[in-house]
Amino acid sequence: MTDTKNQRYIERQQKVKQRVDDKIAAAQEERGLLLVITGNGKGKSTAGFGIITRATGHDQKCAVAQFIKGTWDNGEKNLLEKSGVEFHVMATGFTWETQNKETDTAAAQSVWQECKRMLCDESIDVILLDELTYMTNYGYIELDEVITALNNRPKEQSVVITGRAAHRSLVELADTVSEVKNMKHAFESGIKARKGIDW
Ligand code: ATP
Ligand code: MG
Repeated sequence: MTDTKNQRYIERQQKVKQRVDDKIAAAQEERGLLLVITGNGKGKSTAGFGIITRATGHDQKCAVAQFIKGTWDNGEKNLLEKSGVEFHVMATGFTWETQNKETDTAAAQSVWQECKRMLCDESIDVILLDELTYMTNYGYIELDEVITALNNRPKEQSVVITGRAAHRSLVELADTVSEVKNMKHAFESGIKARKGIDW
């Protein structure tokens, strides 16, 4: 690099640094966050559990509600329960297997009652509501009830919601929203779901 090019590079980097520093200085508010991780690609629940693992590693109190994968063996539960993470898993397995609205609604509601309690509990730092988006989209849980519970939760409590097709009111309410895009998935090449990777 010539001296002038190098000088220009340094000036540009200083400007970038200044902008980042200004933003960091401006971000003063401290409160719990609502995060939504949605989209068709693989990685939503893994990201949600990543946050639970991270918070647990800081000795924060965490809880997980899982709204679909009831009948599957669950690596995250096996590990995190040992570290004191409270789990509530919907018992009926994949909804497209059972296709019984009454039993699915009852199963969803019983987990949702636990969620409502957790969303009032100041001692819980982070809650993962894994696959919640399907429950409101299918009408098993009232969206308004979810919004109210999220709005009334303790100020310091963070919540992560995962699942495809997150309703726009959840997206609007959230502080951070990530969409995981599908570029390719092994399943499309006929490869079976794999322990340790998919569950
Ligand atoms: P993961 O739990 O691996 O983070 P996810 O939460 O993003 O995945 P879900 O929609 O909850 O995805 O689906 C869970 C299961 O479906 C996983 O076994 C995952 O590998 C698989 N899966 C996720 N995305 C796709 C896709 N685009 N095509 C096929 N299978 C998928
Ligand atoms: Mg998932």
